[in-house]
Amino acid sequence: MSENVWTHERTSCAACRGDISAARQRKHAVYCSDACMRAGNRRAYREANPKRPFTTATTGAIHELLVSADLLQRGFAVFRALSASCPCDLAVLQGDRLLRVEVTSGVYQKGGGVNYPPHPPDRFDVLAVVTRDQRIHYFPESALCAP
Ligand SMILES: [Zn+2]
Repeated sequence: MSENVWTHERTSCAACRGDISAARQRKHAVYCSDACMRAGNRRAYREANPKRPFTTATTGAIHELLVSADLLQRGFAVFRALSASCPCDLAVLQGDRLLRVEVTSGVYQKGGGVNYPPHPPDRFDVLAVVTRDQRIHYFPESALCAP
């Protein structure tokens, strides 16, 4: 990256390496144009959410197994749905209470937040969102206290 040593503004575009206009530099622009900004955002999204060579069904199964293993490691007794049409994917025992766990796939958004498809909130107690780096994000995290 090239910087103007006096102002520390970036002088070349992060996408195409072309010059950034003085007007854009004053606005602390990283890209020379809106098109380069969109290309840069697309590349950043794909880097944060790499494509995987599995079908959606296989990805879903992998995510359920990852969440199951994580919950087992946290000390919970874990139960898995026997049919794809069950209202939630997993259940864990918390004391004498069953907690419904729905597993879904999520993507990182710009800024680091996690996005995931909407799920009917009356069908689970905990939503486990697995991102493509195989990290698990529990919502609400507070629902999973000690087994
Ligand atoms: Zn550019």
